[in-house]
Amino acid sequence: MTRPAFACQRCNQCCTGEGGIRLPEEGVPAAAAILGLTPDEFKTRYCRPEQGQWAIRCGEDGRCVLLGPEGCLIHAAKPAICRAWPYFPALLQDPGAFNEAKLICPGLNPEATHQEFLAQYRQTITKEEDPS
Ligand code: SF4
Ligand code: SF4
Repeated sequence: MTRPAFACQRCNQCCTGEGGIRLPEEGVPAAAAILGLTPDEFKTRYCRPEQGQWAIRCGEDGRCVLLGPEGCLIHAAKPAICRAWPYFPALLQDPGAFNEAKLICPGLNPEATHQEFLAQYRQTITKEEDPS
């Protein structure tokens, strides 16, 4: 296999659509600081309260309001769910869910097996744990 099981194509499809993108209160200061805002300014401009956290709003075009021309405006402090994709528990545990995700994320290689996806995930977390 020449193409990896996952290689983001930067299509921004996963930054489109309402729901599920939330920052906990403790994640707000770092995100706000990237944009030169106070936490309250950040919440007022970009968030609404939801289930004890701060949900990032979508614009009228359906895109996350933190999606800029070069990608996520708070990349270094983006919500955990945004950092985790596509290595969600459901996709790691269920080959069927992995195959369904291939239909919505062009970064997932349609020809990759679930085993290849898991192998890439293990490599990714190994690199994160030992970046040397
Ligand atoms: S916070 Fe950033 S990565 Fe997450 S959906 Fe919004 S633009 Fe995309
Ligand atoms: S949908 Fe997939 S390929 Fe597109 S930006 Fe998101 S992770 Fe990358």
